[in-house]
Amino acid sequence: MKAGLRQESRLRVSPMESSTSSAVATCLLCGSEASPALNLPRFGGASCQGCARRVGHLLVEAPASVTDIWPLLSEDEDDDSVEPSVQRPDGTTVELRQLTAELKRELSVEDRMKLAELYGDIGLRREQLEECGRVLVAAPSAELTQRALNVLFSPELCSPRGLEDLRGRLFPV
Ligand SMILES: [Zn+2]
Repeated sequence: MKAGLRQESRLRVSPMESSTSSAVATCLLCGSEASPALNLPRFGGASCQGCARRVGHLLVEAPASVTDIWPLLSEDEDDDSVEPSVQRPDGTTVELRQLTAELKRELSVEDRMKLAELYGDIGLRREQLEECGRVLVAAPSAELTQRALNVLFSPELCSPRGLEDLRGRLFPV
């Protein structure tokens, strides 16, 4: 049998090789080595896990400070609209928003990521961005972190100038 004669060229980056285009990526945000390297699709580069988490904290704790990076975060923030209220089984009334937050707390990180993707499917972009932020804060597996980053740093949702702004927000001089 003459099988196996064709070598795969992708083996070019072997662990023994110290080529210049190494597998070690530099985090676009903090400048340190990103291992594992997470991908920021919008900017064609990498992020470290620490920065992914920092981005999550920004989104969750100070969403109003990053609306220039994610313009859709400011969507539908009409203050005059009244938040609907619902009744609990014990008869007390609670804002729907609060009840939803309580219910979400029960979800696994993976389910929250699914929820974020679902929000996107039905066009609730602000909710989707916030949910991705919460996933990042939870610092899940690299796989889940990457899924959240894929949404947040999609060309569709992230401003092209977002990288500079984000760096300044994460690491103020
Ligand atoms: Zn970093």
